[in-house]
Formats: sequence, structure tokens, C-alpha cells
Amino acid sequence: MAIAYISHRDCLLHDTADGHPECARRITVIEDRFIATGLSDILRHFDAPLATDSQLLRVHTQGHLDGLASLAPKTGYERVDPDTIICADSLTAAKRAAGAVIAGVDLVISGEMEAAFCGVRPPGHHAESRRAMGFCLYNNIAVGAAHALAAHGLHRVAIIDFDVHHGNGTEEIFKDDDRVLFCSTFQHPFYPFTALLEPADNRVNTPLQAGAGSDEFRTAVTEQWLPALQRFQPEMIFVSAGFDAHRDDDMSNVSLTDGDFQWVTEQIVAAAADSASGRIVSALEGGYELNSLARCVETHVRVLMGVH
Ligand SMILES: [Zn+2]
Repeated sequence: MAIAYISHRDCLLHDTADGHPECARRITVIEDRFIATGLSDILRHFDAPLATDSQLLRVHTQGHLDGLASLAPKTGYERVDPDTIICADSLTAAKRAAGAVIAGVDLVISGEMEAAFCGVRPPGHHAESRRAMGFCLYNNIAVGAAHALAAHGLHRVAIIDFDVHHGNGTEEIFKDDDRVLFCSTFQHPFYPFTALLEPADNRVNTPLQAGAGSDEFRTAVTEQWLPALQRFQPEMIFVSAGFDAHRDDDMSNVSLTDGDFQWVTEQIVAAAADSASGRIVSALEGGYELNSLARCVETHVRVLMGVH
């Protein structure tokens, strides 16, 4: 299948200072792995455009955009919160990250590409409508989903989030929007420590206890996500693809394997084939242990491509 890889060199310019886990190497190890394994030759590469203010404003407030713009330093670093650091180029990187998901939507809905993976940073799923947090500035996947609804007239989209942290921003943005089904597995209680909303027809939160592994994860997906997707019949599926639940990643106490990320991607591909004509746009969220990150992203993309 023709799969788009969408990124931009500007995403490497988001400098979070020495020792920060959300670093530019996360993207370069993925791209190096694509080259080393030959995958790079069969992906179609696209440069991410900058998301426009009007595209960001579908999910964020003007106050959020203005606040980040006024905080961005001309030199050095500024803190958005204790974990979230920005430099002079960070908002450009963040607009590329959100723009990548927009471009993925356009490519997939036009039929030019069958699916897209956005290898971008900063990540997005903690960013709420009016605040940046947890390494995230703009909510990339939410910006893309809103674009599919507003610019392409889709009626139902699903967002699948298997990052080990709860996608609180995505949940907050779409909590009252029946056109968006949000399914999230995450360690709980854990960062971001926001209160979970009550279950709803458009929301499937599946918390995992510290120490959970493959069995608990696969059971949650099988018993809770897949029936919800079957009921909802999304016309397109978005993936907040975080790989920090990997057992080699010390960001969490959930212990998934390479095989679990392959398996969950296979489930998503099957669900997309069922109701969404195979349309998937996936974007990188977390994943901080560079070896497992590169391996699992390669596997994820191979499954999207149908060549694993
Ligand atoms: Zn995470």
C-alpha cells in the first residue's frame, strides 16, 4: 500500500535542552532505521506544511495561540510548565507537527495515499484547547481530526491513543463532540493526573495499572476498543502513536513488547478496513527509549503498509 511519511527538518529545531527525553534524536533514530531497513525507499516522503492559525483555532483558543507566541523566547529557553520547554524555533516545529497531520488527512482523503505516518515533534495529545503541557504545544492529532470534519465533511472519526499517558488534551477538546470517538489506554493513576471523565458513547478510557503487560493491554483493546469502533463505524481513524508503554522505556511501569505494538496496529488496520476504507493517519506521540522507539515505529509503519 502507498504510505506517506510526513515530517519536516524544522521538527529537529525544537530544542528542549540537554538531557530532556523529548529530544530531536527521537526523529533521527526513526529515520535512520527506515534507511537501514530499506523501508525509506518504499515510503513516499512529504514535507509537512505549517498549520495555519485558522486550522489551529478549530481546537485551540486564540488565547492559547497568543500565550505561546508571547512566551516563546528569542534566544535560550522558556518553560511552559516544569516539563515543557520551548526555544525560539519551537512554535515553528509545533506548527509543522500539526501541519503534518493536516497534510496526512488531505493525502489520504484525496486517495493519493492510503495511510500516513507523521514522524513529528513536539508531540500533541496532552495539549488542551487552552493550555500546553506535558511536552505538547498544539494537539496535532486533534487539529488533524478537526480538519477531516471541517474541511472534508466527514461525519465520524475515531482517535486511538495507545501512548502510556492519558490523552487528556484530546479528550478535553472533543468531550462534547459526538462526531469523534476517543479510545485511550494508559497507565493510571499516572501523569497527567487529570480526573477521568465518565464513560460516554464517544469516549472509551481503558486505564492500566502499574505493572500491566501484554495480557491486560490486549484484553482492554479487544473488550473495549474494538466493540466501540464496531458500533461507531468511523469514516477515518487517527492514531496517537506513543511507544512509551514499551517495557524497555523507563517512562512508565507498563511493559508492552514489540509484538504488542504490531498487534494493536493490526487491530487498527482491520477496523479501518471495516468502516473507513482503510483510511488511517497516525502521528508520533511519546516513546523515549530510542532503540525500542525506532523498532516499534518501523513495525507500526510496516503493518500500515501491509508488508510486515
Ligand atoms: Zn506518553
